[in-house]
Amino acid sequence: MALPAHEDMTALRDAVASGAVSAEAVCAEAFRAVRARDGAIHAFHETFEERAMERARAVDRDRAAGRPLPPLAGMTVAVKDNLATSFGHTTCSSRMLGTYRSPFDATAVERLERAGAVVVGKTNMDEFAMGSSGEHCRWGPVANPWDTSRVPGGSSAGSAAALAAGMCQASIGSDTGGSIRQPAAFCGVVGLKPTYGRISRWGLVAFGSSLDQVGPMARSVRDAALLHDAMSGVDPRDSTVADRPPTQLAASVERPIEGLRVGVPRQYLSDANDPEVNAAVAAAEDAFRAMGATVLPVDLPLTDVGISTYYVIAPAEASSNLARYDGIRYGHRATLAPGEDLATLYARTRAEGFGPEVQRRIMLGTYMLSSGYYDAYYKRALQVRRLIKEELDRAFASCDVLLGPTTPTPAFRFGANADPLAMYLCDVYTVNTNIAGICGVSLPAGYAVRDGRHLPIGVQLQANAFEEDRLVRAARMLERALAPRTARPEGAVTAGA
Ligand code: GLN
Repeated sequence: MALPAHEDMTALRDAVASGAVSAEAVCAEAFRAVRARDGAIHAFHETFEERAMERARAVDRDRAAGRPLPPLAGMTVAVKDNLATSFGHTTCSSRMLGTYRSPFDATAVERLERAGAVVVGKTNMDEFAMGSSGEHCRWGPVANPWDTSRVPGGSSAGSAAALAAGMCQASIGSDTGGSIRQPAAFCGVVGLKPTYGRISRWGLVAFGSSLDQVGPMARSVRDAALLHDAMSGVDPRDSTVADRPPTQLAASVERPIEGLRVGVPRQYLSDANDPEVNAAVAAAEDAFRAMGATVLPVDLPLTDVGISTYYVIAPAEASSNLARYDGIRYGHRATLAPGEDLATLYARTRAEGFGPEVQRRIMLGTYMLSSGYYDAYYKRALQVRRLIKEELDRAFASCDVLLGPTTPTPAFRFGANADPLAMYLCDVYTVNTNIAGICGVSLPAGYAVRDGRHLPIGVQLQANAFEEDRLVRAARMLERALAPRTARPEGAVTAGA
């Protein structure tokens, strides 16, 4: 029997806690959706039905015995395949790690499980989290559940698609330059990138270590808040985590902010955006005004240099991080003919193990870090990084949150951005959040209709570092106000459907 519809994971969690719904039924529903839809969508690389059902039954037993249930008891969660799990594989959708099994769990995964979450499976992604479309997976692309001829966004492609197709109640992604927020926008779900240092990166396979953050994707802002609370907080295994206690966002997320000031950067409303995207931002502005917020124009002239700055820093760090895949310690190892030397082993292993986009990033990064070019590219990018951070700090002196589009367009067709530069430009509104180390969230804000199909549009809110409380409260206000615009269109699939 199908599970009765629930507004979001929080509502379902309450139903499980009260005994109205069993955790077993929640879990069975997720795997029913996987069987029905994942052949066409390909969100998962690997699923763990037996393990998940066992854990769900344990939740039901605990409830029957009157034991207190943790905050995510029995909630099904999909995990991006660049987060280490001690069960199954951790492949980063790369041949390089195709058979890799981690001996430990990432802190984020360990904490979610401790909070009662049930891991459904590991999701497909752009290889090593490099991409914006979900097309660069070693085992084939992921499709958008709203229109399977279109991409779900990336790099947390499977995490967004699995959630939008009802194969889990929430999912976990990583965001180096937009990889949580952009696929969330394309798939009509909420995606939250926390402040750098808010959630431990222990067990997150490194891409750009000064940019990477783990974060939740969810059916509602309050669901995302709940997951953020469960994952955040100090971790002795990651020295870059801020010395702050776990957040308690879920406790205050329903409280509107009095006198909220919403800044709208003029540069975010470019003519290059699809008109429906700019219309969605305008509607969000109106909604904030109607709630009594002050909406003010902001000037962020450095918006456009974000892409060139990011595409120096991220590949530079990637080239260094990915140097560890040498065929010696772990991962793929090429076969050598008698007499071939160590250098050949390295070169062949890396040529075979990495896909074309990863190779491109390694070559770009290595070039930009090489002597003679370091000052011209890498050092200059770091200087611009500082300027971007300062520009955002100035903006946050006069407003609490910034509002704009998450992406210039809704989900595009497979192959539409085959030119790498065109693909990189999709990240124009998301990369500066990572460059500045601040927090941002994408939430559904309406639809574009293409070829008779509804395609979700996301708007993004950003807040300064460690202002997640303000961010999610403002986002929840907007989510409530926009509810009629984001109701599930006839015939479309939406999160949890
Ligand atoms: N699309 C960006 C890139 O390709 C961001 C990826 C990410 O956030 N992991 O690098």
